[in-house]
Amino acid sequence: MTDLWDIKGVKIKTVAVRHLPELKEDVEKLQRQNLLQKHLAEVYLQFNYDVSATLPGAWCLLIVAMPQPLTRVVFNWQGKVYRCDIPPTYIWKADDARVTDALTSIFRPDGFKLVRVHLPVKTLAVRSGLAQYGKNNITYIPGFGSYHRLAAFATDCECPEDNWGELKMMKACEGCFQCGENCPTGCIPKDRFLLHAENCLTRHNEREDILENWIKPDWHNALIGCMRCQLVCPVNNNQLAAIIPGPVFSETETALLLQQIPLDALPDETRRKLSAIAMDDSYDVMARNLDLLIKNQNLQA
Ligand code: SF4
Ligand code: SF4
Repeated sequence: MTDLWDIKGVKIKTVAVRHLPELKEDVEKLQRQNLLQKHLAEVYLQFNYDVSATLPGAWCLLIVAMPQPLTRVVFNWQGKVYRCDIPPTYIWKADDARVTDALTSIFRPDGFKLVRVHLPVKTLAVRSGLAQYGKNNITYIPGFGSYHRLAAFATDCECPEDNWGELKMMKACEGCFQCGENCPTGCIPKDRFLLHAENCLTRHNEREDILENWIKPDWHNALIGCMRCQLVCPVNNNQLAAIIPGPVFSETETALLLQQIPLDALPDETRRKLSAIAMDDSYDVMARNLDLLIKNQNLQA
């Protein structure tokens, strides 16, 4: 089991499966308080807490954090160079497969099973002591800041440590409100913990729906989602160097993207670049957002 803590570059905490009713209560309490709009709860808070149905004899939950820097992509357009960010968590498939393989190779030889479980990973990470919340409702992990992706697994192996604890907000948030002051939509409240998620820019610009009129075009600051509250957060100061250079799109390629030419009609090389940054999965959204970023010159220096 010691190998569990040696998987390269990731951080892991374990909690006993018996805490799942408490985890469920954490989420349902928010719903009962009517702090989250009903349609958002229906989309974002649908989890499967019946882990034993998925894996009979499940004993232990593993919550895994993988470091995820932001990726900066370059677009050449009309003689200028535009740099656009993709926030952490969007480019995940390779890291996710690596972690799943590494965990499976630890448990399977001893006859234990491991399954991926669909749980509220941020709450679970904070409950396990792996992370703490920021006022922006994003999780922060020592050494990773907010630049990470979380995943949860269950195993029928006995739990090496049951780390279940209280929900905690970072000490750094005491007396700080930089995220709230810089949030373009003003959705980080001062008077309660829960974000006004219905107004978070990410929720709007990562979907294909027509953007609502109240969203000002110059609020967009990333190819998808929003980086503003993470970039200004002092806890991330040591992470800001962790920017992965993404692909460079030529003038011709940028023109095709701005024209929103269908993905399957793009040149192979352009499709490969999009695939490398997981934007083939969100192509229509990305192309619309790129247009907004370029028109508003709201880009990283
Ligand atoms: S900007 Fe300040 S208040 Fe917001 S999450 Fe970071 S430390 Fe906390
Ligand atoms: S992601 Fe953007 S819109 Fe959402 S809370 Fe952070 S700064 Fe505000």
